[in-house]
Amino acid sequence: MQLPRNPTRPVRIGSITIGAGHPIAVQSMTATHTQDIDATVAQVSALAAAGADVVRIAVDSQKDADALREIRRQSTANLSVDLQENYRLASAVAPSVNKIRYNPGHLYHHERQLPWQDKVRFIADVAARHDCALRVGVNCGSVDPAKRERYAEGDSLSPMLESALEHCELLDSLGFTRYCVSLKDSDPLQVIEVNRRFAEQRPDVPLHLGVTEAGMPPDGVIKTRIAFEQLISRGIGDTIRVSLTVPNARKAEEISAARQILEDIAAGRVRSVVDYGLKALNIISCPSCSRVENEAFVDLAAQVRDMTRYAQDHAITIAVMGCRVNGPGETDDADLGLWCGPNHVNLKRRGQSLGAFAYADILPRLKQELDALIAERGATGR
Ligand code: SF4
Repeated sequence: MQLPRNPTRPVRIGSITIGAGHPIAVQSMTATHTQDIDATVAQVSALAAAGADVVRIAVDSQKDADALREIRRQSTANLSVDLQENYRLASAVAPSVNKIRYNPGHLYHHERQLPWQDKVRFIADVAARHDCALRVGVNCGSVDPAKRERYAEGDSLSPMLESALEHCELLDSLGFTRYCVSLKDSDPLQVIEVNRRFAEQRPDVPLHLGVTEAGMPPDGVIKTRIAFEQLISRGIGDTIRVSLTVPNARKAEEISAARQILEDIAAGRVRSVVDYGLKALNIISCPSCSRVENEAFVDLAAQVRDMTRYAQDHAITIAVMGCRVNGPGETDDADLGLWCGPNHVNLKRRGQSLGAFAYADILPRLKQELDALIAERGATGR
């Protein structure tokens, strides 16, 4: 079947181009410690061998950027890098990569006195000088608080949309058009809605699609499939990532899952959208990356899923996040949130901290909170 495609601009990322009718590119991200050069090069190679068109690496420090230089030397893969709050690292990483992702919601933390426009100008200038594409990566868990305040409490999509659109406008005005946009949420229905609204207003800008913190297979693949089927079948999406919580050795499953979804959509093997997460227990967990400080995280996510099976008919969301960089923000909207530190797991109930617990103690404590929530909602849990 010939799928419709939005008339997006071409954006070159190393040896591939996304947009303008090019095949939808598949991406993944390393979860090894970036400074462990051998392990990261091995994972980049494994992902590329599995069919990844672009591999993303997290860089949080100058030491990570130094390691990246050596990783670049040892790999021919198209590399992308994820900048967090320290936007100035762009100049250290740009010579080693083909694409830089920045998160508009993170530009407010460093050098608060500087307007965000100056920071974007800096990143765009660095990208242009080093032949890099950009991704404006907006995430539901880290939208600028000032934007959130302008909209009703339950409206998480409008601030995301406004943020993405204003960054596009600024980049365009700077004459930098080699960028794509992503608008990610852990709820596939929100992903469909926000990307649909963005594509309506900016059909020319290539979209990177993904359901963030989709969780473990098979649920994580199903959630992602729900979003991708609805968007790609309508011509929306130029590059995709399936984010899965899996151990490092199984990271290539992100690629095979993405290819399978694309193949199924192209062949018309789409499933109808289910009312996901509204009447059932919803466990979201991040796909892990180099920021994980305790590898027990992946096992913990699986243990949470197993331990909570008894509650599967209750409309409760539990978020399990791998680190203290994004964990605190990304667990705010969950009924129960866990984020992992080196020795402790932090537990939250509807955004309020309940304390930090040893890895050995967290499951019974989580169960206690889950039981209390179920009891509060009554026997049906609805
Ligand atoms: S929550 Fe932390 S560990 Fe998990 S993917 Fe995000 S940055 Fe990486």
